[in-house]
Amino acid sequence: MKEHPSHWLRRFLVALHNYRALARQARNAASNAVRDGRLVLPSNCAHCGSTSKLERHHENYDEPLHCVVLCGPCHRAHHRAIGPTSIVARMM
Ligand SMILES: [Zn+2]
Ligand SMILES: [Zn+2]
Repeated sequence: MKEHPSHWLRRFLVALHNYRALARQARNAASNAVRDGRLVLPSNCAHCGSTSKLERHHENYDEPLHCVVLCGPCHRAHHRAIGPTSIVARMM
């Protein structure tokens, strides 16, 4: 039996909410770890080597200290490549 679209949407929105909360927690945990010297991150993009506009990317929010340093453009390209909803879909 096919799931009603509105039920799917509701589950999707709940997963999206959880995803955003997890993402925020992971970013905070990583920031605190860097501040406290528990986590040392490279000062260049893991993809192109750029040293400007660096951001942290989490492959898995269950492991907040496992993050990859990417510059802004590489970070966005990576998210386009993995698909904007793939992580959310896994949480549904
Ligand atoms: Zn880059
Ligand atoms: Zn990311």
